[in-house]
Order: sequence, then structure tokens, then C-alpha cells
Amino acid sequence: MKPLTEPEIRAAFVNCTKGEASRLNVPRDLAEQPWEDLDFLGWRDPQAPDRAYLAAVIDGRTVAVALRSSGAASWQARRSLCSLCVTTHTGGVSLLVAARAGKAGKQGNSVGAYMCSDLACSLYVRGKKEVGTKLHESLTLEEKIGRTIANLAAFLAKVTA
Ligand SMILES: [Zn+2]
Repeated sequence: MKPLTEPEIRAAFVNCTKGEASRLNVPRDLAEQPWEDLDFLGWRDPQAPDRAYLAAVIDGRTVAVALRSSGAASWQARRSLCSLCVTTHTGGVSLLVAARAGKAGKQGNSVGAYMCSDLACSLYVRGKKEVGTKLHESLTLEEKIGRTIANLAAFLAKVTA
């Protein structure tokens, strides 16, 4: 993906207030992110471990969402599957919940999905980050990347619907 700047990321949040988007922790090392290997930028808030964020460019538009872990019980010890990149982890998948954008979110509606806890899906797909168990799949790397982007776009569509 194309490198994003901090102002671009802050302006792209769809499911929190402008004030929250201006205060939340954006990675300080944006210049060092492996952008060419990323389908989206995902990060955890170092000061609030139950919070995570992701930013992606979907159809030319930058979209960022704030996510929350749904609680300690979601850190499953058993093997779990990331719904974005379809990587299997032992204990490395979290149920992350996004408030829906706009009115629906204000009414308390949210969308949840199991995701790699460190949001490094792009690196798992490319084999740049290793996991214990690998699914045997006949898909090419391009197909896996396409699937991850499609899964992410579907999730973001539910958040912004
Ligand atoms: Zn993943």
C-alpha cells in the first residue's frame, strides 16, 4: 500500500469522534513501516492494550477504524483462525469489535471479527512473520493477498454501512 501520514490516518477514522481521532496513539515509526508488504496498517495502542486500530486504502479512499478487544475471554488459548488473512494461531487471535460509523454506532451497534492479535496479517500472508501452524493451501500469494483485502473490505463495509 502507499505510505500514509499521521494527518491522513487521523482524518480517515470513521467510527470515533474527531477529538478521539486527534488524541489516539498513531505509530511514531510510520516512516519505518514495511509499506510495500502491507495491505493495511494495523496497530495496538501501547497505552491501552484493549484498543487496536487499522487503516487501509479501499477503492482509493483511506479508511481507519478504532477497535476494542471484547475482553480477556477473547484471548483464546486454543487454536484460532484470523477472519482476515485466514492464518491459524495458537492464542494469537483476538475478537476485535468496531463501533459502527455514524448513527448506528451512537446507538451502540458494533461489528466484531477475529483478527491476528498483532494485526500483522499482511506479514503472515507473505511469510515475513511466522506462525506455529500453517494451513496447507493451494492458493498463490497473490490470491491470498486478494482474499485478505476482500475480507478486510467486507469488514469495513459492515462498519461504514
Ligand atoms: Zn490475520
